[in-house]
Amino acid sequence: MADVYDIIIVGGGPSGMTAGLYSCRARMKTLLIEKMACGGQALVADVIENFPGFPDGIKGPELAEWMLKQAEHFGLKTEPGEVKIIVLKKTEKGQFMIKLADGREFLAISLIIATGARWNSLNVPREKELSGKGVSYCATCDGPLFKGKDVTVVGGGDTALEDAIFLTKFARKVTVVHRRDRLRATKILQERAQANRRIEFCLNSVVAEILGKDKIEAVKIKDLKSDKEKEVKTDGIFILIGISPNSEIVRGIVNTDEKGYIISDDEMRTSVDGIFACGDVRKKLLRQVVTATGDGAIAAVSAQAYVERIKGVEYK
Ligand code: NAP
Repeated sequence: MADVYDIIIVGGGPSGMTAGLYSCRARMKTLLIEKMACGGQALVADVIENFPGFPDGIKGPELAEWMLKQAEHFGLKTEPGEVKIIVLKKTEKGQFMIKLADGREFLAISLIIATGARWNSLNVPREKELSGKGVSYCATCDGPLFKGKDVTVVGGGDTALEDAIFLTKFARKVTVVHRRDRLRATKILQERAQANRRIEFCLNSVVAEILGKDKIEAVKIKDLKSDKEKEVKTDGIFILIGISPNSEIVRGIVNTDEKGYIISDDEMRTSVDGIFACGDVRKKLLRQVVTATGDGAIAAVSAQAYVERIKGVEYK
């Protein structure tokens, strides 16, 4: 018979790791399943400046490493693997079954879905073909390849501006192309980007096409006011236009919004008793490390209460 966990956490970003920390401190038998390295999007954040306690900021990978160490210190077990299927039909003992891509199966009384979100594509001609050949979705990963070069950043949110500023450490010029006449990003990032001489803005504009045979050579930029298009030479393009939830494994099981974000209440309960959600995969206002960790803590406490209720040992 397979071990039955009290809580299985799917996803090892900041929310999942925090859920693990709280579950283990509550002495719940807990397993965290993550298909890559633990850390989630924090792993590609150059510096995180808005996680309290670090006045000079902290490197994303370093913060992720400390979070994992802390959770493991309290007994968190992690298992590498990709969850493919969640069997909703509970066994008689009130368990969920999780099946991994490699065929392994795990049982748990409750589940915490902390699968985060992934970067969106622009879906323009040549984007797919030139991915890795000048087209990138991660400035921290690929920025150093563009020393002394000219690059284009698409997007007007926090990621686009933070990464545009980061790219000026390497690139000669960074052109931010944004579809509106104003930016979405936090004001402090807008101020910094606008004060940076290496950053130029191309507003009310979209990248309509990426040009190049074996590597990117230029982008076709369309002015949305005049409808005019122009070709602009560039050595790289960073597509930083937001994220989509990694909620496929629970689609059709728990309620989601029209974009696929999991709908949960203040206690991180989803529409299915015993399944909780936390972090970027949830429908919520603010997706940042600080809110992810808060979600993770609440999800673990709620899952603990659920497990104790199922076992008939809750503290009333
Ligand atoms: P975001 O806030 O959703 O911004 C995406 C940007 O891309 C928006 O400006 C959007 O334009 C634009 N966009 C979307 N689809 C597009 C398309 N098809 N073509 C052209 N432009 C398109 O995404 P994000 O910047 O990746 O941030 C995601 C979350 O992480 C946010 O909650 C953000 O606050 C958070 N984050 C926080 C930090 C930080 O606190 N330091 C850093 C990074 C990310 P519109 O404005 O017109 O919609």
